[in-house]
Amino acid sequence: MTWAYLNNSFQKKDDVLISPYDRGFLFGDGVYELIPSYSGQMFLYDEHISRLARSLEAVSIDKPQQWKNLERIILDLLQRNKFHNQAVYIQVTRGQDKTRSHIPNETTAPTLFIESSELSADLLQPNFTEPLLDVGMEEDLRWSRCDIKAITLLGNVMTLDKLSYGGLEEVIFFKDNLITEGAKSNIFFVFGEEIVTPSLSENILSGITRNYFINLLRQNNLNVIEREISVNEVEEADEIWFSSSGKTLGVVRKINNKLVLEKDFKNTMAYKAIELFRQDILI
Ligand code: PLP
Repeated sequence: MTWAYLNNSFQKKDDVLISPYDRGFLFGDGVYELIPSYSGQMFLYDEHISRLARSLEAVSIDKPQQWKNLERIILDLLQRNKFHNQAVYIQVTRGQDKTRSHIPNETTAPTLFIESSELSADLLQPNFTEPLLDVGMEEDLRWSRCDIKAITLLGNVMTLDKLSYGGLEEVIFFKDNLITEGAKSNIFFVFGEEIVTPSLSENILSGITRNYFINLLRQNNLNVIEREISVNEVEEADEIWFSSSGKTLGVVRKINNKLVLEKDFKNTMAYKAIELFRQDILI
C-alpha cells in the first residue's frame, strides 16, 4: 500500500480526494516541488524548501499551516512508503473556494498535498545505463514566469505530448532566438573545455540540480559559464545535457533524429560530471 498526505492526515494514495472547487483544479492556481530521496535521505532538502517558499511568495499563496512540520511529515511518508529511493512531490494550491471566481477569497486556506513514489535513481547503481536522450527542439510556448515552479504546465505537457509520438523524451526550448531550458529540466552545453548553461531569467526555472552541478563542477576546477546561448550555437556543441531532480543528468544523443553525440559516452564531460555526483552521494 502506498501513502499520501492531504492537509492534515496520511491517507492511502487511492483514497485521496480533492474537491473540483480547489483552485488548483479550476485555475492551476498553485506551486509544487519535487525532492529526491536516496536511501531515506532527502537530497538538497533545504534548497528545495527555500525554492517552494519563494514560489509561494511569488504567487502570494500563504505557507500551509503545517509548514513548520513539513520535514517531519515527509520523513514519516518516506518511512511508510518504504521504497529505497523516492520522489517526493509537494503540491500547494491556493485552496478550495466556495464558488468559482478568478479573484481568490482571502480567507481560503491553502491545500497541501504530498506524495512519494519509487525513484529509479539508476545513476547510483554500480553499472548504470548510459542516460542518453533523444530530444526535439521547439519554440518555447510557455508563459513568461517560468522561474516560478507553478503547477500550471500546459505548455510543457502539449510539447512533450507532441514529441512523444516520435519517441522523443525532452525538448530544447528556445524563445526570441535564445535557448531557455527543457520542458522538465535545465540544459547545459559543452563547447570544448567550457560548460555553458543559460543565465537565470524569468524564462527558466532556477533548477536545484542545475545549481548543484554548477557548484560541483567548479569545485573540481571545471569551467562553468552562465550566459545567453543562441539557437545557432546548438549545432556547435560537443555535448548537451539536461539536469533535473528526478533524472539527475541526461545526455542528448539525437536532436530531431539527427545524431549530435559523436563520442563514446565514457569519454564525455557528462560522464565525468556523473562520476563526481556518484562520489558525492555514495561516500
Ligand atoms: N526546468 C523545468 C521546466 C522543470 O520542470 C524542472 C524540474 O522539474 C527543472 C527545470 C529542473 O529543476 P530541478 O533541478 O530543481 O528539479
